[in-house]
Amino acid sequence: MGRNGNQQCCVQSDKRTFIGLLLLTSLVLIVLSVLLWWVPYVGFSYIHPRLPLIMALVFLAVLMFLIGGGMTLVFTIIRGKNLFFNRRIRGVVIRFLFPLLVVVGKLVGITKDRIRRAFISANNLLVLGEAKGVRPEKMLVLLPQCIQSHECDVRITGEKVENCKGCGRCKIKNLKILSRKYGVSISVATGGTLARKIVAERRPDMIIGVACERDLTSGIQDSYPIPVYGILNSRPNGPCIDTDVDVDIVEEGVRAFLGGEERSGGVSPQSF
Ligand code: SF4
Repeated sequence: MGRNGNQQCCVQSDKRTFIGLLLLTSLVLIVLSVLLWWVPYVGFSYIHPRLPLIMALVFLAVLMFLIGGGMTLVFTIIRGKNLFFNRRIRGVVIRFLFPLLVVVGKLVGITKDRIRRAFISANNLLVLGEAKGVRPEKMLVLLPQCIQSHECDVRITGEKVENCKGCGRCKIKNLKILSRKYGVSISVATGGTLARKIVAERRPDMIIGVACERDLTSGIQDSYPIPVYGILNSRPNGPCIDTDVDVDIVEEGVRAFLGGEERSGGVSPQSF
């Protein structure tokens, strides 16, 4: 199976994990809602004879909202298309649903990183449906510092990626070429605080973020409502040192949101 085949397979598996967890969480919420209504049911009738019926209607409305929201999300993810309220749904997933999925996932023995991957995958599908035709100057490629070779003494954090001398020991060289080719901004963050500062200063319309499961998840949450398309790095030398990323996947992401446009008159990759 080729790279795209493997990638497709992982995305499908992450999608299944997310949808499975989502359905399980919905079931738990429905049971909890019914219990919340049923337990004080007897008490309601003491306050007013019609109160049990009124409360039943309120809980029914909440349940319909939960089921409707869950189903819309499932169809959005399965179809990979922008259904109504895509942006709102992304907000609900990021703010409320993900913490719930982590709790339910833990109860059924799913690791946090697997849940994070499923969340990143679902987020990416929603972002793909939402952000199209982004102007290059409004796109930011945000990288973790651990992608820089640990033997390199050039300072490239923040907006200093231009300092890279292009020796080729790490992918910063290729990513700098990519940013020039498409005219998009590129920055390197040492952690969440610097990443937030860069985003606040640049005010991009969308971000292509490269990081590990944990940092991508928090980056997606922190940056909302700005859409973040997450790409996982690989860690052949263990976490946080000399990590790697498939530059073709980053380029595919950039092209998908720019509508496949290359910057006209841009610097050719060979002219680095
Ligand atoms: S490619 Fe750039 S950042 Fe990477 S080791 Fe060489 S000079 Fe340093």
